Amino acid sequence: MFDRVISRRGLLVAGAMTAAGLASAACAEAWGSSPTSAVTRQQLPVTAAQDPAAMFAATTNTPAAAPANAPAAQSASGVQPTAVAAAHTGQRPAAWAMAMPGIITTFVPAGRQMALTFDACGGPGNDEMNEVLMNFLISQRIPATLFLNERWIDADPARAESLANNPLFEIGNHGTRHCPLSVTGRSVYNIRGTASPQQAVDEVWGNHERLIRLTGRAPRFFRTGTAHYDDIAVKIVHKLGETPVGFSINADAGATFGSAQIQREMAAAVPGAISIAHMHRPKSGTAPGMLAAIPRLRSAGYEFVHLP
Ligand SMILES: [Zn+2]
Repeated sequence: MFDRVISRRGLLVAGAMTAAGLASAACAEAWGSSPTSAVTRQQLPVTAAQDPAAMFAATTNTPAAAPANAPAAQSASGVQPTAVAAAHTGQRPAAWAMAMPGIITTFVPAGRQMALTFDACGGPGNDEMNEVLMNFLISQRIPATLFLNERWIDADPARAESLANNPLFEIGNHGTRHCPLSVTGRSVYNIRGTASPQQAVDEVWGNHERLIRLTGRAPRFFRTGTAHYDDIAVKIVHKLGETPVGFSINADAGATFGSAQIQREMAAAVPGAISIAHMHRPKSGTAPGMLAAIPRLRSAGYEFVHLP
């Protein structure tokens, strides 16, 4: 499986992505080539880790009824994507960030636990798999949550299916086009976000349905391309039955950090931490950094767990 991927994509160097490339490919590219100091070692908002859905109970609008002729308006889970979009039409967001109420950035650990998450962003130059990293996780029996973008899945469905069939990995939703999730088209790193509630719904729901076809079950967790949301978009994700996941450790800054920097970031782990790194750039420092950092954390007593 891995050999096939490498032979087809072997000459792509993901790190060669340019600023111009980012600007011209809306919603398309990985984040992290912009300054990242503001997002490293985020504070750990405890409340969001408890029950992010509950905090919306008092403020969430009642969904409007779906049009009678809306195609595929209701999923097997009872979620009505069209109605979710309609309920937020015309609303103006009040926040734009990677961490806010409703986004999980930590979890309540049972002892010395932390959660590893890896994103596969997909798209031009980002469709490879870091097989050294993934083979390490598999051989060392290290659980992780993998956020897969629909384009990355479609680049090699058998590869994604193999990961999905491995109980070490929970598969999360990393979006359909890899957009920042906005209802107004807000941009970050020159990547334009979704521009309406319907576009935000489509960004989540397109890959939601793709992941059901891939894994046989609905994804529980969502992370946007670039990890940015506005507050209306956060509510939309919850209404679609998924929980937005951020991070407390920005381990590889979009696969731009070298091994030593990744080891420093991971060394800051505390129980309940959620790390983010990237699994689609085999030539990055991510594998050497993680292959050094993870055994060290294990020696320090850390257990790696799925998100609760
Ligand atoms: Zn991504």
